[in-house]
Amino acid sequence: MKITVAKSAGFCFGVNRAVETVNELISQGRRVSTLGPIIHNKQVVKELEAAGVTVTNTPESAESDRVLVIRSHGVGSDVYSYLEQRGVEYVDATCPFVAKIHKIVSEQSEQGAVVIIAGDSNHPEVRGIMGFCKGAVYAFKNSEELIELVSSNKELASEKVCLVSQTTFDTEEWKKSLEIFKKLCTNSIFFGTICNATSQRQIDAYQLAKNSDAVIVVGGRHSSNTNKLYEICKKSCSRSYLIETAAELECISFGEDDHIGITAGASTPANIIKEVLDRMSEKSGQVAETAAEQNNFEEMFEESQKNVNRNDKVFGIVESIEPNAVYVTLVDRKQTGYIPVEELSNDPTAKTEDVVKVGDQLELLIMRTNDQEGLIMLSKKRVDANKGWEVFDAALENKDILEGTVNEVVKGGVIVLSNAIRVFIPASQATASRKDPLEELVGKEVEFRLLEIDKRRKKAVGSIRSVLKERADAAKEAFWSTVEVGKKYNGVVKSLTSYGAFVDIGGVDGLVHISELSWSRIKHPSEVINVGDTIEVYVKAIDTEKGNISLGYKKEEDNPWNQFINNYSVGDVIDVTIDGLSSFGAFAVIIPGVKGLIHISQIADHRIEKPQDELSVGDTVKVKITEINTTSKRVSLSIRAVLADMAAAEQE
Ligand code: SF4
Repeated sequence: MKITVAKSAGFCFGVNRAVETVNELISQGRRVSTLGPIIHNKQVVKELEAAGVTVTNTPESAESDRVLVIRSHGVGSDVYSYLEQRGVEYVDATCPFVAKIHKIVSEQSEQGAVVIIAGDSNHPEVRGIMGFCKGAVYAFKNSEELIELVSSNKELASEKVCLVSQTTFDTEEWKKSLEIFKKLCTNSIFFGTICNATSQRQIDAYQLAKNSDAVIVVGGRHSSNTNKLYEICKKSCSRSYLIETAAELECISFGEDDHIGITAGASTPANIIKEVLDRMSEKSGQVAETAAEQNNFEEMFEESQKNVNRNDKVFGIVESIEPNAVYVTLVDRKQTGYIPVEELSNDPTAKTEDVVKVGDQLELLIMRTNDQEGLIMLSKKRVDANKGWEVFDAALENKDILEGTVNEVVKGGVIVLSNAIRVFIPASQATASRKDPLEELVGKEVEFRLLEIDKRRKKAVGSIRSVLKERADAAKEAFWSTVEVGKKYNGVVKSLTSYGAFVDIGGVDGLVHISELSWSRIKHPSEVINVGDTIEVYVKAIDTEKGNISLGYKKEEDNPWNQFINNYSVGDVIDVTIDGLSSFGAFAVIIPGVKGLIHISQIADHRIEKPQDELSVGDTVKVKITEINTTSKRVSLSIRAVLADMAAAEQE
């Protein structure tokens, strides 16, 4: 007797994940309940029952003192809402491949598409998918039902229709249905959502059945994917048997020369498959002594799991992106793999959707081969980091400047992410001055140099300050070689003092004296500028020996005296505001920055004792410009002249 185990058999990724979720909760001492049997396998459900796990058939009957696990089939959106409203604690173990369908139908139906699902409307997975549709939704089991569905709903021929499939739908039936669908529904879009684990099992089962005299399909009789495998095998091998446990083998007889194929559904645990293999071993030992070399079943079973090797480098194309993992199809292998979020990037804050896009081709490292589950665990960050260490080796030797992003502040410094490697920058090396707060660096792109690396311990230490200092020195050198009186700079105000402002004009600070800030008299520089402002300044004087630069800020075109000269003449009668009073007259503001004197003799048309007898500060009065002295920049004004003009005008 010769026995062959299908290349893929047993727990798929999604089922394994759901069962592991329950086991993890049990190990945490939690009281657990599953929403429906966690998988379609009586033996596993019984084992979990013995561990205290109960099965809750409806969300309404969820017990408040148990955490509820949503199984890999998923549920409709209404169930999530209900659980949240009732405050039921739940853990969602919906298989990501099913969740992907939820997303598709939710988006498509929101855009007005009618959803058609290739699958069994009574299956919980299909019911869950329907529960995410926001409009009309139908399901069909096979191509005949599809034809019937479209002929009895004529509007489907022209309406926008979206076709998806249950993850375990028969691949051959899908191909047939798709051809029909494309012809009947002209305004359609379709998504091939049969799970890779399922399609691979179906292909392997078909190949196995074709080359076998009898096939044993191991799995639960309620399991949709196990039944599919059984149907596929039966089509090519009439002696196909579906068994749930090894005990059922007793009722099946095999011939001495039979070639027996063994496969198992996605919800069949490895220990049950192993039991079947052991029992077959015993049987073949009794009846097939001549074929003993074929009967190391354990090896065969293990062999069936090997297709890829740990630490192999592979290429994968991103198929879907979930918050916790990215799913890829491996190029040349027709297998699905996943990159857990923690293996995607060295940045713990990175979101999966920010790191990769659907369709990206990635170089990846195999972390765990898991052919039995149809899925391979992969790492992107390790491939990236390996390349990164090569870059770092060269950068350390050549003292190259590297770029990175400050990721977080840690004890004693900051972490910079560069070339997929986390580099520690001690606080003393992180900023130009120790006074600068480290928190302000987070999220910023920085340049740094490596101080040391230890590849074995995966440690790298760098310095931002060394680059900052080098840049500052270079900037200073460039400045002093080009600076000249009159040259204009855009500078940043670094600090203010009572006598002026220090302005960084490219690595060198210059002083703008307070008198150079404004044409009017000011008490403090803050009346004109603030720290952090970018202002245009020009070089007034240079002291290269002391390294001092005097800067000017106020501009000639803003000089109020020039504005006055250009706009006013002797003889003009204007309104002015009294600004100050003294024993010899009153000062009046003509325009901001230019004042004139109204001598006491010119305040009234009669003699007065003092200016206060006629005027107060703040008064607006009409005056005549009687003299402009451009040398001393003095202006004489007269109210009396205005009064005389008025009197003369009246006499005329
Ligand atoms: S068969 Fe595929 S879709 Fe279904 S649970 Fe398994 S991995 Fe997920």
